[in-house]
Amino acid sequence: MAEPFLIKMPQLSDTMSEGTIVSWEKAIGDFVSRGTVVATVETDKAIMDVEVFREGYLSGPLAPLGAAIAVGTPIAALVGESAAVTDTHAAAPAAAQTATPAAIEAPRGQAILMPQLSDTMAEGTLVSWEKAIGDFISRGTVVATVETDKAIMDVEVFREGYLSGPQANAGQVVPVGQPIAFLVADAKEVTQGALVPSAPVAAKATPAPFAPVPSGSVQAKTRAPAMPHGATPAPRPRKGAATPYARQLAGAHGIDINSLAAGTGPGGCITGADVAGAGGGPRVQAKRIFQVPGAGRPMDSMEKAVSQNMEYSLSMPLFRVTVHVDPARLGRAAKDLKVSLTVLLAAAAARAIERHPRVNAVYQHEDRIVERTQIDVGLAVETEGMGLVVPVLRNVVARSVDELNAQWKDLVARARLKRLKPEEYSNPTFTISNMGMLGVAQFDAIPVPGTSAIFAIASTQPHGMPVTMTADHRIVNGAEAAKFLNTFKGLIEDPAWLFAPAGPAAAARSAQTATTRAERPSSGALPADTSGYDCDVLVIGGGPGGEDCARELVDHGRRVIMVNDAPFPGGECLWRGCIPSKAWRAAADRIRDRRHDADLGVVNTAEPALDWSRLDVMRKRVLTTRGEMALKTDKGVRIDVREGFAYFDSDHSAVIVPVEGADPYERRAPQSGAPGKRVTFASAVIATGAPPFVPPIPGADGPGVLTSDTVWNLEGPPGRLVVVGAGAIGLEMAQIFIDFGCEVTVLEARDRVLPEVEVEVATQLAALLAKEARLSVVTSARVQGIEGTPGSVTVRYTLGADACLAQADYVLLATGKRPVTEPLALARAGVAADRGVITVNEHCQTSVPHIFAVGDVVGGYMLAHTAGHQGRVAAQTLLGHEAAYDERKDSGVIFTRPQAAFVGLSAEQARVQGLDPVEIKVPFSIDAKAMITGETAGFIKMVADRATRRIVGVHFLADHADTLIGSAVLMVSAGLTLEQVGSAIHPHPTQTELFGDLARRLLARLRRTARATS
Ligand SMILES: Cc1cc2nc3c(=O)[nH]c(=O)nc-3n(C[C@H](O)[C@H](O)[C@H](O)COP(=O)(O)OP(=O)(O)OC[C@H]3O[C@@H](n4cnc5c(N)ncnc54)[C@H](O)[C@@H]3O)c2cc1C
Repeated sequence: MAEPFLIKMPQLSDTMSEGTIVSWEKAIGDFVSRGTVVATVETDKAIMDVEVFREGYLSGPLAPLGAAIAVGTPIAALVGESAAVTDTHAAAPAAAQTATPAAIEAPRGQAILMPQLSDTMAEGTLVSWEKAIGDFISRGTVVATVETDKAIMDVEVFREGYLSGPQANAGQVVPVGQPIAFLVADAKEVTQGALVPSAPVAAKATPAPFAPVPSGSVQAKTRAPAMPHGATPAPRPRKGAATPYARQLAGAHGIDINSLAAGTGPGGCITGADVAGAGGGPRVQAKRIFQVPGAGRPMDSMEKAVSQNMEYSLSMPLFRVTVHVDPARLGRAAKDLKVSLTVLLAAAAARAIERHPRVNAVYQHEDRIVERTQIDVGLAVETEGMGLVVPVLRNVVARSVDELNAQWKDLVARARLKRLKPEEYSNPTFTISNMGMLGVAQFDAIPVPGTSAIFAIASTQPHGMPVTMTADHRIVNGAEAAKFLNTFKGLIEDPAWLFAPAGPAAAARSAQTATTRAERPSSGALPADTSGYDCDVLVIGGGPGGEDCARELVDHGRRVIMVNDAPFPGGECLWRGCIPSKAWRAAADRIRDRRHDADLGVVNTAEPALDWSRLDVMRKRVLTTRGEMALKTDKGVRIDVREGFAYFDSDHSAVIVPVEGADPYERRAPQSGAPGKRVTFASAVIATGAPPFVPPIPGADGPGVLTSDTVWNLEGPPGRLVVVGAGAIGLEMAQIFIDFGCEVTVLEARDRVLPEVEVEVATQLAALLAKEARLSVVTSARVQGIEGTPGSVTVRYTLGADACLAQADYVLLATGKRPVTEPLALARAGVAADRGVITVNEHCQTSVPHIFAVGDVVGGYMLAHTAGHQGRVAAQTLLGHEAAYDERKDSGVIFTRPQAAFVGLSAEQARVQGLDPVEIKVPFSIDAKAMITGETAGFIKMVADRATRRIVGVHFLADHADTLIGSAVLMVSAGLTLEQVGSAIHPHPTQTELFGDLARRLLARLRRTARATS
């Protein structure tokens, strides 16, 4: 790319004449690959993405945010080398400029313009009219298809009206922004006739004269014939040029592109319409046709596609091999795992292909082989009305059978309702046709184009289930087919792979994705007879993890002792964590929100003051009320609640040391080894939490140093505070205290804040915090020592080579939490731990199968709802039910202002899981409600899996993220698709509408990208 390529404001709808830059998604100097979204722009309809379809480095001058730019005006540039990048920002243009399409004088009504469907598209060839003159057109209707430089694409209109002439004819080349027809409001205004091509177009092409078409009559469609999937393009013509689509079409239909006359495209370029026969017609090779008497009905599109695919496959040199397989064990495994046998057959086939990758390759015309790494298995399903449909499970080896099963159910249900999208039933890399359930004793199947083999599975007979492989001999030879079939047979007859631990080999496979289930419990369920024990389950710890577990167990009639070394349940969450910190946050919010009162016309509220003692009374009242309520409920549902400290005596017994009279607000010192009452249990659940971690910094145990356990004892907000640690607790506390009037310095050893949240959320939050008065956040700061007493504490730290000091009244250590498990005497029970963190599997089972551990004590996300969920997972497993904790669907809210929140995976995490993520975001700066309340900082970002369209993560930097996230949690945990969320009816005016917008925008982008890159 010698000259910079100009990225221009695209025309993203037929009425768009200018767009406002909402965000730059890439920075100057970033390398941009094809199909990347570089910016978002607000059009007259929505916020839309600006994608580019070239490679290069993003270069200035970059159009500024908020600038309204005319369609066709450059907004940035792409250059071939990073050295050529210009780091400049353009001034906002004064007004819409030259590239606005010339106003078109329609006889009456609105012009339908040739849209710009890719950033390189300057003109399009009209391929077909999908609606006839006089037809009533509703919003979102496809009225025509046009051939661009990349593909044939639809022309949608976003207004209502009657289609009217003058109209461009099929084959006509029309510049972007010029009319191709008109819409009129009244059927009586409809006019006929053809559009006269504009001068430059006339110079390039010589379309046939247009004949007037009667209003309302049906026009012959000139849509190009369907192409077999996987068809290979014809070689470039020896003379002149042909569009990629024309070559693909010619390849698919065996047309010699050199036999065509010069094309009707620019410079004589052969277009798809030329190949298809429009505008004079290419010379298609003669086909021998058997004439059948009778009128016949036209095939529907599915029948046509099947027919053409099958015709194509006749050119493949096929051979067949059969083995007999005993499916009994796989059938039992399917029942055991509660998944479909069909899904397990697909999973086994995919694993066999993984070992024989040649089966996943395909012949490419001419004399080439495409070797694919991803294994996409198509499974034929009988449907009413659509006949046999082949929904495709993508990337099969990289996904768990549960996930595949859930997707399969969804695909089958939608296939039966004719609701599958083409990308969901096209382009498998291998296919299975299972007619066993229809009682077929033996058959063979024809591989679909784009694959080299197919399985035909017939009904089980005395000597087994016949599996016949039909394969393309150009790719797979007989010996390979036999070996592959035997591998498949082995996987079916010994399905141990379904239960194998996800070891290093599995992790390495398919980019570290969960290929199989993690280790299943050997036997987590409670035994039938527990009468020899004092209780069925001893739960140690009465925080969210222990209490939720105990309640679930007693709900199912089990005998539970819950021992907690505090007078009330609730644990850290109620007494020293979530709830008291949110009481403080609520008071801080009231103070902070007063800043916007004046904007709303509410005056005289500008100087709020904090009455610390009243806040303290309220905090304690909420805590004790909740604690007492919880204790009453626990006892009421018949949990045997004991106030005491427990430690293990053996793997079926523990000692409970009484600790009556303890202060509920304080963490108790461990009582390990002290005498107490011995209790026996069939199973135990450890839910003892994790105290604040105090790093070995000299002076960290000094009198002026607080932790999240002791900060509550302050007698008022300090004037100056140093917070060590910019994690969730550190940032929440820092912002609360600045709202209370403190001066706060946050010292963080890492180079970023909030390492657990999505990177852009953390980066933007850090930028907002940097603007806060009285707050400074210093990253890469290493604390070396703390000296002094309350009111005068000095923190020594280094910043690179510099030695620095920070002075404060107090220091708050917010350096994380770490379980302390020595006092539990885990070794007596044989429970393994790694530096205090108890090791568990996904069922929360420790190294001792009947002892479980949940919550902070097992590490990972140290959050109250995580602990509660894990408590229920342990209880369900003890009850013999299937349950697992899946960190990929967990969530969290950090109660800063705005709040940082997440559910599921970031794009980066999704990639590590082997998914192909796509993401989209919306800034709150465009949301009317956010504007009203002055809460325009931040954004919502949605991450979906490109293949399945499932939403795998949603990330927030938003005021009210704590309520908005509820919807997102359901999306991720239920595995909702973009279509499902995009078609849900969100109430107006609420910020939940943004979820629907995001889903629809992302779908639209995926459609555009699929078209532009096909
Ligand atoms: C300031 C702060 C704010 C927080 N904010 C949030 C938030 O907004 N959202 C969120 O999700 N999480 C938050 N958390 C984290 C949350 O408090 C914990 O993740 C959660 O309480 C963990 O629950 P748990 O059941 O694992 O342990 P805990 O709640 O710690 O409960 C463990 C219980 O076991 C008792 N115990 C310990 N050892 C023994 C023993 N040997 N015998 C008997 N009893 C024992 C303890 O006394 C305690 O009662 C916050 C934490 C802090 C410190």
